[in-house]
Amino acid sequence: MDSVLIIGAGAAGAVVAKKCGLNRDIFKHIHLASRTLSKCEKIQKECASPITISQLDADDSTQTIALINRIKPHLVINMALPYQDLAIMDACLATGVHYMDTANYEPKDVAKFEYSWQWAYQERFREKGLIAILGCGFDPGVTNIFCAHAQEVLFDEIHTIDIIDCNDGNHGKAFATNFNPEINLREVTQRGKYWKNGEWIDIDPLSIACMIDYPEVGARKSYLIYHEEEESLVQNIKGLKQIRFWMTFSDNYIKHLDVLQNIGMTRIDPVRFQGIDIIPIEFLKALLPEPSSLAENYSGKTSIGCIIQGIKDGKQVRHLIYNVCDHAMCNKEVQAQAVSYTTGVPPVVGAIMLFQGHWQGNGVFNVEQLPAQPFLAELTKQGLPWHIWELKEAEQAALFAV
Ligand code: NDP
Repeated sequence: MDSVLIIGAGAAGAVVAKKCGLNRDIFKHIHLASRTLSKCEKIQKECASPITISQLDADDSTQTIALINRIKPHLVINMALPYQDLAIMDACLATGVHYMDTANYEPKDVAKFEYSWQWAYQERFREKGLIAILGCGFDPGVTNIFCAHAQEVLFDEIHTIDIIDCNDGNHGKAFATNFNPEINLREVTQRGKYWKNGEWIDIDPLSIACMIDYPEVGARKSYLIYHEEEESLVQNIKGLKQIRFWMTFSDNYIKHLDVLQNIGMTRIDPVRFQGIDIIPIEFLKALLPEPSSLAENYSGKTSIGCIIQGIKDGKQVRHLIYNVCDHAMCNKEVQAQAVSYTTGVPPVVGAIMLFQGHWQGNGVFNVEQLPAQPFLAELTKQGLPWHIWELKEAEQAALFAV
Protein backbone atom coordinates (compact mmCIF):
# COMPACT_ATOMS: atom_id res chain seq x y z
CA MET A 1 0.00 0.00 0.00
CA ASP A 2 1.42 3.37 -1.00
CA SER A 3 -1.36 5.49 -2.51
CA VAL A 4 -3.59 7.96 -0.67
CA LEU A 5 -6.59 10.13 -1.55
CA ILE A 6 -7.05 13.10 0.79
CA ILE A 7 -10.49 14.75 0.65
CA GLY A 8 -10.75 18.34 1.96
CA ALA A 9 -8.27 21.12 1.14
CA GLY A 10 -8.87 23.10 4.32
CA ALA A 11 -6.48 24.02 7.12
CA ALA A 12 -5.97 20.46 8.41
CA GLY A 13 -6.19 18.78 4.97
CA ALA A 14 -3.32 20.99 3.80
CA VAL A 15 -1.14 19.65 6.64
CA VAL A 16 -2.02 16.05 5.69
CA ALA A 17 -1.08 16.65 2.04
CA LYS A 18 2.16 18.44 2.92
CA LYS A 19 3.24 15.87 5.50
CA CYS A 20 2.53 13.00 3.08
CA GLY A 21 4.59 14.96 0.54
CA LEU A 22 7.50 14.97 3.02
CA ASN A 23 7.34 11.15 3.35
CA ARG A 24 7.69 10.02 -0.27
CA ASP A 25 9.33 6.74 0.72
CA ILE A 26 5.91 5.73 2.13
CA PHE A 27 3.39 7.76 0.08
CA LYS A 28 4.25 7.12 -3.57
CA HIS A 29 0.95 8.56 -4.90
CA ILE A 30 -0.82 11.51 -3.22
CA HIS A 31 -4.05 12.93 -4.58
CA LEU A 32 -5.89 15.86 -2.96
CA ALA A 33 -9.55 16.56 -3.84
CA SER A 34 -11.86 19.22 -2.49
CA ARG A 35 -14.94 21.30 -3.28
CA THR A 36 -12.91 24.35 -4.33
CA LEU A 37 -10.17 23.51 -6.84
CA SER A 38 -8.22 26.74 -6.25
CA LYS A 39 -7.55 25.63 -2.63
CA CYS A 40 -6.09 22.34 -3.93
CA GLU A 41 -3.95 24.29 -6.41
CA LYS A 42 -2.52 26.49 -3.66
CA ILE A 43 -1.60 23.46 -1.52
CA GLN A 44 -0.18 21.65 -4.56
CA LYS A 45 2.21 24.58 -5.11
CA GLU A 46 3.28 24.57 -1.44
CA CYS A 47 3.97 20.80 -1.24
CA ALA A 48 7.60 19.73 -1.03
CA SER A 49 7.04 17.08 -3.75
CA PRO A 50 4.50 16.69 -6.60
CA ILE A 51 0.90 15.75 -5.80
CA THR A 52 -2.14 15.47 -8.09
CA ILE A 53 -5.45 17.27 -7.44
CA SER A 54 -9.16 17.28 -8.41
CA GLN A 55 -12.37 19.15 -7.78
CA LEU A 56 -14.86 16.97 -5.85
CA ASP A 57 -18.17 17.40 -4.06
CA ALA A 58 -17.89 14.59 -1.52
CA ASP A 59 -21.56 14.91 -0.53
CA ASP A 60 -22.17 13.06 -3.78
CA SER A 61 -20.90 9.47 -3.44
CA THR A 62 -21.08 8.88 -7.21
CA GLN A 63 -18.46 11.62 -7.75
CA THR A 64 -16.20 10.11 -5.08
CA ILE A 65 -16.65 6.60 -6.53
CA ALA A 66 -15.66 7.87 -9.99
CA LEU A 67 -12.57 9.62 -8.58
CA ILE A 68 -11.49 6.55 -6.57
CA ASN A 69 -11.92 4.34 -9.65
CA ARG A 70 -9.77 6.76 -11.63
CA ILE A 71 -6.86 7.17 -9.19
CA LYS A 72 -7.13 3.82 -7.32
CA PRO A 73 -5.90 4.83 -3.84
CA HIS A 74 -5.40 2.26 -1.06
CA LEU A 75 -6.77 4.64 1.58
CA VAL A 76 -9.10 7.65 1.64
CA ILE A 77 -8.34 10.19 4.38
CA ASN A 78 -11.44 12.29 4.96
CA MET A 79 -10.32 15.80 5.98
CA ALA A 80 -13.56 17.48 4.82
CA LEU A 81 -16.37 18.05 7.31
CA PRO A 82 -18.19 15.51 9.48
CA TYR A 83 -21.26 15.93 7.23
CA GLN A 84 -19.42 14.01 4.46
CA ASP A 85 -18.35 10.99 6.59
CA LEU A 86 -21.12 8.59 5.57
CA ALA A 87 -21.10 9.50 1.87
CA ILE A 88 -17.31 8.91 1.77
CA MET A 89 -17.62 5.62 3.72
CA ASP A 90 -20.25 4.51 1.15
CA ALA A 91 -17.84 5.35 -1.68
CA CYS A 92 -15.03 3.37 0.02
CA LEU A 93 -17.30 0.33 0.40
CA ALA A 94 -18.39 0.57 -3.23
CA THR A 95 -14.78 0.67 -4.47
CA GLY A 96 -12.99 -1.58 -1.93
CA VAL A 97 -10.80 1.11 -0.34
CA HIS A 98 -9.86 1.68 3.32
CA TYR A 99 -11.27 4.76 5.14
CA MET A 100 -9.98 7.15 7.82
CA ASP A 101 -11.32 10.38 9.37
CA THR A 102 -10.77 12.79 12.27
CA ALA A 103 -14.34 13.63 13.36
CA ASN A 104 -17.54 11.64 13.78
CA TYR A 105 -20.56 12.03 11.55
CA GLU A 106 -23.02 14.82 12.30
CA PRO A 107 -26.29 15.41 10.49
CA LYS A 108 -26.42 19.00 9.21
CA ASP A 109 -29.77 19.81 10.82
CA VAL A 110 -29.01 18.51 14.38
CA ALA A 111 -25.86 19.40 16.33
CA LYS A 112 -25.44 15.85 17.60
CA PHE A 113 -22.12 14.07 17.96
CA GLU A 114 -22.29 10.31 18.24
CA TYR A 115 -20.67 7.29 16.66
CA SER A 116 -23.90 5.31 16.15
CA TRP A 117 -24.16 6.16 12.44
CA GLN A 118 -20.57 5.12 11.71
CA TRP A 119 -20.51 2.10 14.05
CA ALA A 120 -23.51 0.87 12.05
CA TYR A 121 -21.07 0.29 9.13
CA GLN A 122 -19.21 -2.42 11.13
CA GLU A 123 -20.57 -5.47 9.26
CA ARG A 124 -20.30 -3.87 5.82
CA PHE A 125 -16.60 -3.03 6.27
CA ARG A 126 -15.94 -6.46 7.85
CA GLU A 127 -17.64 -8.33 5.00
CA LYS A 128 -15.59 -6.42 2.42
CA GLY A 129 -12.30 -7.05 4.27
CA LEU A 130 -11.79 -3.28 4.71
CA ILE A 131 -10.85 -1.13 7.69
CA ALA A 132 -12.52 2.17 8.64
CA ILE A 133 -10.40 4.05 11.20
CA LEU A 134 -12.47 6.66 13.04
CA GLY A 135 -11.31 9.77 14.87
CA CYS A 136 -7.59 9.79 13.99
CA GLY A 137 -6.88 13.49 14.69
CA PHE A 138 -5.50 14.83 17.98
CA ASP A 139 -8.67 14.87 20.06
CA PRO A 140 -10.23 12.53 19.10
CA GLY A 141 -7.18 10.59 18.03
CA VAL A 142 -3.92 10.99 19.91
CA THR A 143 -5.81 11.46 23.20
CA ASN A 144 -7.51 8.06 22.66
CA ILE A 145 -4.11 6.50 21.93
CA PHE A 146 -2.64 8.05 25.10
CA CYS A 147 -5.45 6.27 26.99
CA ALA A 148 -4.74 2.98 25.16
CA HIS A 149 -1.04 3.33 26.06
CA ALA A 150 -1.99 3.98 29.70
CA GLN A 151 -4.19 0.88 29.71
CA GLU A 152 -1.48 -1.28 28.10
CA VAL A 153 1.56 -0.07 30.05
CA LEU A 154 0.98 2.38 32.90
CA PHE A 155 -1.97 0.99 34.86
CA ASP A 156 -3.52 -2.27 36.02
CA GLU A 157 -6.85 -0.45 36.45
CA ILE A 158 -7.87 2.96 35.10
CA HIS A 159 -10.47 4.77 37.21
CA THR A 160 -10.71 8.32 35.84
CA ILE A 161 -9.68 10.19 32.70
CA ASP A 162 -9.63 13.97 32.28
CA ILE A 163 -8.77 15.06 28.75
CA ILE A 164 -7.35 18.58 28.91
CA ASP A 165 -7.08 20.82 25.85
CA CYS A 166 -5.50 24.27 25.94
CA ASN A 167 -4.76 26.56 23.02
CA ASP A 168 -2.67 29.30 24.58
CA GLY A 169 -1.96 30.92 21.23
CA ASN A 170 -2.70 34.40 19.96
CA HIS A 171 -3.73 34.92 16.30
CA GLY A 172 -4.26 38.65 16.69
CA LYS A 173 -7.86 38.64 15.35
CA ALA A 174 -10.83 39.95 17.35
CA PHE A 175 -12.62 36.61 16.95
CA ALA A 176 -11.78 33.49 14.95
CA THR A 177 -12.09 29.74 15.38
CA ASN A 178 -9.07 27.46 15.04
CA PHE A 179 -10.85 24.87 12.95
CA ASN A 180 -13.90 25.01 10.71
CA PRO A 181 -16.10 27.73 12.33
CA GLU A 182 -19.39 25.96 11.74
CA ILE A 183 -18.22 22.68 13.32
CA ASN A 184 -16.41 24.49 16.15
CA LEU A 185 -19.40 26.64 17.12
CA ARG A 186 -21.81 23.69 16.92
CA GLU A 187 -19.49 21.82 19.31
CA VAL A 188 -19.11 24.53 21.96
CA THR A 189 -22.72 25.76 22.00
CA GLN A 190 -24.28 22.33 22.60
CA ARG A 191 -25.13 21.13 26.12
CA GLY A 192 -22.19 19.69 28.05
CA LYS A 193 -22.02 16.22 29.56
CA TYR A 194 -19.61 13.84 31.25
CA TRP A 195 -19.72 10.18 32.20
CA LYS A 196 -19.67 8.91 35.77
CA ASN A 197 -20.44 5.47 37.21
CA GLY A 198 -22.14 4.22 34.07
CA GLU A 199 -24.27 7.30 33.38
CA TRP A 200 -24.03 10.41 31.23
CA ILE A 201 -24.54 13.55 33.33
CA ASP A 202 -25.98 16.43 31.35
CA ILE A 203 -24.99 20.06 32.17
CA ASP A 204 -25.77 23.53 30.80
CA PRO A 205 -23.23 24.74 28.20
CA LEU A 206 -19.98 25.99 29.79
CA SER A 207 -21.55 25.83 33.28
CA ILE A 208 -18.64 23.98 34.99
CA ALA A 209 -15.12 25.42 34.97
CA CYS A 210 -11.90 25.09 36.96
CA MET A 211 -8.22 26.05 36.75
CA ILE A 212 -6.01 23.41 35.15
CA ASP A 213 -2.22 23.62 35.10
CA TYR A 214 -1.06 22.91 31.51
CA PRO A 215 2.53 21.83 30.77
CA GLU A 216 4.65 24.68 29.31
CA VAL A 217 1.64 27.04 29.55
CA GLY A 218 0.55 27.28 33.20
CA ALA A 219 -2.81 27.49 34.96
CA ARG A 220 -5.73 28.35 32.64
CA LYS A 221 -9.49 28.46 33.21
CA SER A 222 -10.96 25.38 31.53
CA TYR A 223 -14.58 24.50 30.78
CA LEU A 224 -16.17 21.07 30.91
CA ILE A 225 -17.63 20.28 27.48
CA TYR A 226 -18.71 17.08 25.75
CA HIS A 227 -16.24 15.68 23.24
CA GLU A 228 -16.79 12.70 20.99
CA GLU A 229 -13.85 10.51 22.09
CA GLU A 230 -15.54 10.06 25.48
CA GLU A 231 -18.15 7.82 23.82
CA SER A 232 -15.67 5.28 22.47
CA LEU A 233 -13.30 5.44 25.45
CA VAL A 234 -16.17 4.52 27.78
CA GLN A 235 -16.52 1.33 25.71
CA ASN A 236 -12.83 0.54 25.30
CA ILE A 237 -11.13 1.46 28.61
CA LYS A 238 -11.96 -1.35 31.01
CA GLY A 239 -13.11 -0.52 34.55
CA LEU A 240 -13.42 3.22 33.89
CA LYS A 241 -15.49 5.10 36.49
CA GLN A 242 -15.41 8.65 35.14
CA ILE A 243 -14.37 10.55 32.01
CA ARG A 244 -14.50 14.32 31.44
CA PHE A 245 -13.21 16.68 28.74
CA TRP A 246 -11.92 20.20 29.48
CA MET A 247 -11.11 22.99 27.06
CA THR A 248 -9.78 26.52 27.60
CA PHE A 249 -11.65 29.49 26.12
CA SER A 250 -10.47 33.06 26.59
CA ASP A 251 -12.86 35.60 28.12
CA ASN A 252 -12.82 37.34 24.74
CA TYR A 253 -13.95 34.15 22.95
CA ILE A 254 -16.75 33.62 25.48
CA LYS A 255 -17.87 37.26 25.13
CA HIS A 256 -18.18 36.93 21.34
CA LEU A 257 -19.86 33.54 21.65
CA ASP A 258 -22.44 34.96 24.09
CA VAL A 259 -23.33 37.82 21.76
CA LEU A 260 -23.50 35.59 18.66
CA GLN A 261 -25.76 33.14 20.50
CA ASN A 262 -27.97 35.83 22.02
CA ILE A 263 -28.69 37.36 18.63
CA GLY A 264 -29.30 33.99 16.92
CA MET A 265 -26.20 33.93 14.71
CA THR A 266 -25.29 30.37 15.78
CA ARG A 267 -28.72 28.94 14.81
CA ILE A 268 -28.60 25.92 12.49
CA ASP A 269 -32.22 26.15 11.28
CA PRO A 270 -33.18 28.16 8.18
CA VAL A 271 -34.31 31.80 8.52
CA ARG A 272 -36.25 33.42 5.66
CA PHE A 273 -34.41 36.57 4.52
CA GLN A 274 -35.45 38.61 1.46
CA GLY A 275 -37.14 35.61 -0.13
CA ILE A 276 -34.39 33.07 0.47
CA ASP A 277 -33.61 30.65 3.32
CA ILE A 278 -30.37 31.45 5.18
CA ILE A 279 -28.84 29.29 7.90
CA PRO A 280 -27.29 31.84 10.29
CA ILE A 281 -24.28 29.70 11.30
CA GLU A 282 -23.41 29.11 7.61
CA PHE A 283 -23.59 32.86 6.94
CA LEU A 284 -21.46 33.52 10.04
CA LYS A 285 -18.85 31.03 8.73
CA ALA A 286 -18.61 33.07 5.53
CA LEU A 287 -17.79 36.19 7.60
CA LEU A 288 -15.19 34.67 9.94
CA PRO A 289 -11.50 34.15 9.04
CA GLU A 290 -10.73 30.74 7.52
CA PRO A 291 -8.68 28.66 10.00
CA SER A 292 -5.96 28.26 7.33
CA SER A 293 -5.54 32.06 7.21
CA LEU A 294 -4.54 32.34 10.89
CA ALA A 295 -1.11 30.71 10.68
CA GLU A 296 1.08 33.60 9.64
CA ASN A 297 1.16 35.66 12.82
CA TYR A 298 0.07 33.02 15.31
CA SER A 299 2.23 32.92 18.46
CA GLY A 300 2.07 30.68 21.53
CA LYS A 301 1.44 26.98 22.06
CA THR A 302 -1.17 24.27 22.32
CA SER A 303 -0.89 21.91 25.29
CA ILE A 304 -3.18 18.87 25.12
CA GLY A 305 -3.17 15.66 27.09
CA CYS A 306 -4.85 13.16 29.37
CA ILE A 307 -4.74 13.08 33.17
CA ILE A 308 -5.36 9.48 34.15
CA GLN A 309 -5.80 8.05 37.65
CA GLY A 310 -5.87 4.42 38.64
CA ILE A 311 -3.98 1.54 40.21
CA LYS A 312 -0.56 0.08 39.38
CA ASP A 313 0.97 -2.73 41.47
CA GLY A 314 -1.60 -2.13 44.20
CA LYS A 315 -0.83 1.60 44.52
CA GLN A 316 -2.88 4.63 43.44
CA VAL A 317 -1.05 6.50 40.65
CA ARG A 318 -1.75 9.51 38.42
CA HIS A 319 -0.15 10.25 35.07
CA LEU A 320 -0.33 13.17 32.68
CA ILE A 321 0.44 12.20 29.06
CA TYR A 322 0.69 15.23 26.78
CA ASN A 323 2.04 17.05 23.75
CA VAL A 324 2.95 20.72 23.44
CA CYS A 325 2.97 22.25 19.97
CA ASP A 326 4.22 25.70 18.96
CA HIS A 327 2.17 27.69 16.41
CA ALA A 328 5.15 29.48 14.87
CA MET A 329 7.15 26.23 14.45
CA CYS A 330 4.22 24.66 12.58
CA ASN A 331 3.98 27.70 10.33
CA LYS A 332 7.68 27.45 9.57
CA GLU A 333 7.42 23.78 8.66
CA VAL A 334 4.13 23.58 6.71
CA GLN A 335 2.55 27.08 6.77
CA ALA A 336 -0.09 25.99 9.32
CA GLN A 337 -1.12 26.92 12.86
CA ALA A 338 -0.77 24.34 15.65
CA VAL A 339 -4.47 23.33 15.77
CA SER A 340 -4.36 22.35 12.08
CA TYR A 341 -0.95 20.71 12.59
CA THR A 342 -2.02 18.63 15.59
CA THR A 343 -5.14 17.58 13.61
CA GLY A 344 -3.29 16.84 10.35
CA VAL A 345 -0.18 14.95 11.52
CA PRO A 346 -2.02 12.06 13.31
CA PRO A 347 -3.92 10.83 10.20
CA VAL A 348 -0.59 10.77 8.34
CA VAL A 349 0.84 8.66 11.18
CA GLY A 350 -2.30 6.46 11.06
CA ALA A 351 -1.85 6.00 7.30
CA ILE A 352 1.79 4.98 7.90
CA MET A 353 0.56 2.44 10.49
CA LEU A 354 -1.82 0.96 7.92
CA PHE A 355 0.65 0.97 5.03
CA GLN A 356 3.37 -0.65 7.17
CA GLY A 357 1.00 -3.29 8.55
CA HIS A 358 1.10 -2.17 12.21
CA TRP A 359 -2.63 -1.44 12.06
CA GLN A 360 -4.77 -4.18 10.55
CA GLY A 361 -8.35 -5.33 10.82
CA ASN A 362 -11.66 -5.75 9.07
CA GLY A 363 -14.47 -3.50 10.24
CA VAL A 364 -14.88 -0.12 11.94
CA PHE A 365 -12.31 0.80 14.61
CA ASN A 366 -11.76 3.70 16.97
CA VAL A 367 -8.04 4.35 17.26
CA GLU A 368 -7.68 3.13 20.86
CA GLN A 369 -8.59 -0.36 19.56
CA LEU A 370 -5.43 -0.44 17.42
CA PRO A 371 -1.81 -0.91 18.64
CA ALA A 372 -0.64 2.23 20.46
CA GLN A 373 3.15 1.67 20.65
CA PRO A 374 4.11 1.88 16.94
CA PHE A 375 1.79 4.88 16.49
CA LEU A 376 3.35 6.78 19.41
CA ALA A 377 6.89 6.06 18.19
CA GLU A 378 6.04 7.40 14.72
CA LEU A 379 4.13 10.40 16.14
CA THR A 380 7.33 11.76 17.66
CA LYS A 381 9.22 11.26 14.39
CA GLN A 382 6.52 13.14 12.49
CA GLY A 383 6.73 16.25 14.68
CA LEU A 384 4.46 15.65 17.70
CA PRO A 385 6.66 14.48 20.59
CA TRP A 386 4.75 13.34 23.67
CA HIS A 387 5.69 13.03 27.33
CA ILE A 388 4.57 11.26 30.49
CA TRP A 389 4.71 12.88 33.88
CA GLU A 390 3.75 11.19 37.16
CA LEU A 391 1.48 13.67 38.92
CA LYS A 392 1.02 14.41 42.58
CA GLU A 393 -2.56 15.19 43.63
CA ALA A 394 -1.56 18.72 44.70
CA GLU A 395 -0.32 19.55 41.18
CA GLN A 396 -3.87 19.56 39.81
CA ALA A 397 -5.71 20.27 43.07
CA ALA A 398 -8.45 22.42 41.47
CA LEU A 399 -9.29 19.77 38.87
CA PHE A 400 -9.40 16.91 41.37
CA ALA A 401 -11.65 19.00 43.64
CA VAL A 402 -14.45 19.32 41.02
P1 NDP B 1 -11.68 23.81 7.02
O1 NDP B 1 -13.00 24.47 6.98
O2 NDP B 1 -10.46 24.64 6.90
O3 NDP B 1 -11.60 22.67 5.86
C1 NDP B 1 -12.65 21.87 5.46
C2 NDP B 1 -12.44 21.59 3.99
O4 NDP B 1 -13.39 20.61 3.55
C3 NDP B 1 -12.66 22.84 3.13
O5 NDP B 1 -11.60 23.01 2.22
C4 NDP B 1 -13.96 22.54 2.41
O6 NDP B 1 -14.09 23.06 1.12
C5 NDP B 1 -13.90 21.04 2.30
N1 NDP B 1 -15.25 20.53 2.08
C6 NDP B 1 -16.37 20.86 2.74
N2 NDP B 1 -17.42 20.22 2.20
C7 NDP B 1 -16.94 19.48 1.19
C8 NDP B 1 -17.54 18.63 0.24
N3 NDP B 1 -18.85 18.40 0.23
N4 NDP B 1 -16.76 18.03 -0.69
C9 NDP B 1 -15.42 18.27 -0.72
N5 NDP B 1 -14.80 19.08 0.15
C10 NDP B 1 -15.55 19.68 1.09
O7 NDP B 1 -11.64 22.98 8.36
P2 NDP B 1 -10.36 22.32 9.09
O8 NDP B 1 -9.39 21.84 8.08
O9 NDP B 1 -9.89 23.21 10.17
O10 NDP B 1 -11.02 21.05 9.78
C11 NDP B 1 -11.47 19.96 9.02
C12 NDP B 1 -12.22 19.04 9.94
O11 NDP B 1 -11.25 18.40 10.81
C13 NDP B 1 -13.14 19.76 10.95
O12 NDP B 1 -14.37 20.09 10.45
C14 NDP B 1 -13.24 18.78 12.09
O13 NDP B 1 -14.34 17.98 11.86
C15 NDP B 1 -11.92 18.02 11.99
N6 NDP B 1 -11.09 18.36 13.15
C16 NDP B 1 -10.66 17.34 13.94
C17 NDP B 1 -9.86 17.60 15.03
C18 NDP B 1 -9.30 16.48 15.83
O14 NDP B 1 -8.36 16.72 16.58
N7 NDP B 1 -9.79 15.27 15.74
C19 NDP B 1 -9.51 18.98 15.44
C20 NDP B 1 -9.97 19.98 14.51
C21 NDP B 1 -10.74 19.67 13.41
P3 NDP B 1 -14.33 24.65 0.86
O15 NDP B 1 -12.96 25.20 1.04
O16 NDP B 1 -14.81 24.71 -0.54
O17 NDP B 1 -15.31 25.10 1.88
